[in-house]
Amino acid sequence: MRAVSVGTVRHILCVFPRYTSAFGTFEYAYPLTDGVQAFMPPQGLLLIAAYMPENWPVRFIDENIRPATSEDFEWADAVLVSGMHIQRHQMNDICRRAHAFDLPVAIGGPSVSACPDYYPSFDYLHVGELGDATDDLIARLERDSSRPNQQIVLKTSDRLDMTRFPIPAYELAELKRYFLGSIQYSSGCPYQCEFCDIPGLYGRNPRLKTPQQITAELDKLLECGIRGSVYFVDDNFIGNRKAALDLLPHLVEWQKKTGFVLRLSCEATLNIAKRPEILAGMREAFFCTIFCGIETPDPVALKAMHKDHNMMVPIMEGIRTINSFGMEVVSGIILGLDTDKPETGAHLLEFIEASQIPLLTINLLQALPKTPLWDRLARENRLIEDEGRESNVDFRRPYDEVVDTWRRCMGVAYEPARLLQRYEYQIRETYPHQIERPSSRQQMTWPNIRLGLVMLRNIFWKIGILGDYKLEFWKFALRRLARGEIEHLIASMMVAHHLILFARGASSGRQNASNYSVRLRGASVPAE
Ligand code: SF4
Repeated sequence: MRAVSVGTVRHILCVFPRYTSAFGTFEYAYPLTDGVQAFMPPQGLLLIAAYMPENWPVRFIDENIRPATSEDFEWADAVLVSGMHIQRHQMNDICRRAHAFDLPVAIGGPSVSACPDYYPSFDYLHVGELGDATDDLIARLERDSSRPNQQIVLKTSDRLDMTRFPIPAYELAELKRYFLGSIQYSSGCPYQCEFCDIPGLYGRNPRLKTPQQITAELDKLLECGIRGSVYFVDDNFIGNRKAALDLLPHLVEWQKKTGFVLRLSCEATLNIAKRPEILAGMREAFFCTIFCGIETPDPVALKAMHKDHNMMVPIMEGIRTINSFGMEVVSGIILGLDTDKPETGAHLLEFIEASQIPLLTINLLQALPKTPLWDRLARENRLIEDEGRESNVDFRRPYDEVVDTWRRCMGVAYEPARLLQRYEYQIRETYPHQIERPSSRQQMTWPNIRLGLVMLRNIFWKIGILGDYKLEFWKFALRRLARGEIEHLIASMMVAHHLILFARGASSGRQNASNYSVRLRGASVPAE
């Protein structure tokens, strides 16, 4: 549904801030593509854009693709902004630019919902999810589009049921410019890991869209030009297992109807390995990757962070089970835990070697507001607000040692030969378990073939000829070429190249040690 149409027309400019360069934004892969400039279309802002009254023109700008211009601000009657903590400085900067045009600016999304006090300059704070606060904001803008005299905080107490969510306004975004497509089926997670803000922000009882909403969204994503992969951004895809099981047959049908043109991926807890019927359905629906927050291979640490559910099956067995259904595991890892010891880094590297997981997001522990971790560290007087630091946690181990461990792990884990060897393993042991996609006319279109050729040319030229890990690359690439594994070559190198370059920056101190770090550097993801 949309907000009720109102008489007065307002022009709404939705601006998504640039990302600070981070491990998970894949910007080093973009030059290998044919024009990708941003990571994923922002679900929240595109949802709000779709919810605006029908007669209100909406313009959407993702500043990872191009900055909002004077012309955009002159066109607008009001500006809406959304983002995560890591984009805080960029959001405040958008507000400053909009105010130069005397426009009212509203901010919503996860960061302001957790920390309203980060945003003193905004005119409206939209705290919480889509709901009565959104209707209130629209009504206020309709009545008066000048800037209020003082900040107004609107809190959602009555959330809009997800089954009534409109399809995000994908038509306003240049979907071809995104590395991945995004979609959301559920919100919330039943677990309570100590460091995580999801249960506090979105609740423990996952709320859901209907399978029909999801297939309609997928249709629209395709129509609007998404290619390659779509990521379910649900906090935990199996937060409600029955719902996941209900959805999967619809996804399988949709894939059959549209010729399996999209690979799917999601985030889920590792105990998904205990549910072979879900994994089997995901395999049929062509899920190829699952991000699991493994966090640490140390059972004592898992217990301390209240992530016991990761031990419902032995970790290595869980990974192998997922692999046996054709899905690669991507893992979140945290260093700097209270349980860390001098040998933690070495154990992590052994785990990486044994698990053969190619992609692990290795972060330093960061305490997020509205988490049990934040509350505990506040009680223990161990929160440090210093933007020059890599983390706001006063670690048990000496700070420099923790950061050095992180740098060393990044440096070793992403040495080109080691990383490509792990991809070699996945190509040999995991991907053969994927379904054989029927070769469909939808896959064999000229734009798709052209895209593959462009990426291949870029990979050969930028890595194979100009790159500085040519030897390792050609060893890996020649085996793929000899076996006709062109798709695997392209997909692996897109990610591997980013990891290798990002990790070099990390091990030499040029990158943040946490995707959430308050050590906010200038936005280094190019906007043009
Ligand atoms: S399982 Fe994942 S989403 Fe759920 S509380 Fe833990 S870290 Fe957060």
